Amino acid sequence: MSVNKKLVVVSILLICGALSGLAWRYFKSVKIESKQLVFDFSFESLKEKPNIVPLLVLGSGPASLAAALYGSRTNIRTVVIKGNQPGGQLTGTSYIENWPGVRKIRGTEIIKDCEEQAARFGAIMVSDSVQSVDFTQWPYKVITEEGKELHALSLFIGTGATPRKLGIPGEWKYFGKGVTTCAICDAPFHKGDEVVVIGGGDSAVEEAIELSSYARQIRMLVRGDVMRASPTMIDRLADCSNVKIVYNTTITEIYGVDDHVKGIQVINTKTNEKEEWKDVKGVFLAIGHIPNTQIFNGQLETTKEGYLKMLGRSHHTSQKGVFAAGDVSDPRYKQAGVAAGDGIKGGLDAVWWLSESGFSDSLQKDLEPFFFDPRLDNKIDMQRINNIAELDELIAHNLDKIIIVDFYTKFCPSCIHMMPVLEWAGTKLKDKVICVKVDGIASLDLTSHFEAPGVPYFVVLKKGKQVGATQDMMNREEMYNFIKKHL
Ligand code: NDP
Repeated sequence: MSVNKKLVVVSILLICGALSGLAWRYFKSVKIESKQLVFDFSFESLKEKPNIVPLLVLGSGPASLAAALYGSRTNIRTVVIKGNQPGGQLTGTSYIENWPGVRKIRGTEIIKDCEEQAARFGAIMVSDSVQSVDFTQWPYKVITEEGKELHALSLFIGTGATPRKLGIPGEWKYFGKGVTTCAICDAPFHKGDEVVVIGGGDSAVEEAIELSSYARQIRMLVRGDVMRASPTMIDRLADCSNVKIVYNTTITEIYGVDDHVKGIQVINTKTNEKEEWKDVKGVFLAIGHIPNTQIFNGQLETTKEGYLKMLGRSHHTSQKGVFAAGDVSDPRYKQAGVAAGDGIKGGLDAVWWLSESGFSDSLQKDLEPFFFDPRLDNKIDMQRINNIAELDELIAHNLDKIIIVDFYTKFCPSCIHMMPVLEWAGTKLKDKVICVKVDGIASLDLTSHFEAPGVPYFVVLKKGKQVGATQDMMNREEMYNFIKKHL
């Protein structure tokens, strides 16, 4: 056969290979139309989207980590964006005595255990937080503070709640300089000081107890004439002789000097009588929380207090495929155990919704190369080789490494699918392997030299000699093992 004839045959084979890849993918399609959105769970519709996440979990408190556990344990690729306060409010509390099955444990330990448990089943933890979400398109677009654009097939929201502030003069000016919402963090800085705790709920009692080992005098300001805290918690105050409860009193101003709190003004809520307490050096706020739902404003239904609304007894929000649990949607219980239990329900709701909508193991396998994977942030850059001379030069400079040549054509779906698979495996083995790509049609001399039977086609070169080749469609692990066996 003449060289020209050989090139024509190779070109036809390449085009046939590309078309068969297209046909192979085309028939896997499940399309669901909702009010405004089309949920098209097919490889064809999703493969163009970079950074796909089947289940994206926002937040890393007990609700989020429980949802992530159920997502990942069902083998659904689950990514957790940990948020600005990783672990949520539990990491700011001291010991927890009502986590079922454990007599006494630190909040931070609960979070560590939950995170490790979810990660063990494959959940990927990302230290970043969400800046915006767009629920007008599906897959849902999520932008992170580090600038990543993710495309979530389903979402679980466990963004929790933020401690409420008073809005009085001096509060912001001296925040972090004597004014705080976290006794466990700041109590040790108040050895021998006079401090106040604002609020009469369980959190306020906890703050006072924590402070009692450090501060000289702690006055709890309760604005009404009853405390909201549970009787068991109030009983505990009996052991703290330096804690005094002051009823019908609230704070109106915080003063400072040299960047530190030095006194406060209080008011009697019954008589309106004002008083100055000049020696107060610490103000601990424990007046409840505001749900962290601001980034969902206008996109998800909330209660008038801002909590996410759930559909019936489920953990489905007002948007299809978007679920929530924990303090972001629970104005009543606000317990770590409840959040974890509800997180399980939300995680299961997400898993069931994905499956009912057409998400399957085989689709997940096909989509794997397009998944967001922060572990690949330092991904190799696959150089393009255009002719035999360039390849020879590369070989001459890398005799200690294996070279994988990936033959592709621009419009071949299987090639688009396999290139990130090779990049992934190549990144994992980057000390021993170099991966390059060859456009099978633009570089026919290379295609002909290696007698590529179609695309994608992978050739393995060791010290310039071909030691392996394959046309197989592989997932990441299979590609990794294929390369490894030639090392
Ligand atoms: P709560 O809403 O229960 O209590 C808030 C307290 O702050 C109330 O005393 C409230 O007064 C007071 N308050 C609110 N706004 C102001 C204001 N502007 N000025 C002065 N006082 C104000 O919040 P918590 O954070 O204490 O508790 C939330 C939930 O978490 C509860 O369900 C609680 O049981 C639970 N929790 C449980 C713990 C445990 O079991 N270990 C520990 C901590 C919390 P008023 O009563 O007048 O409204």
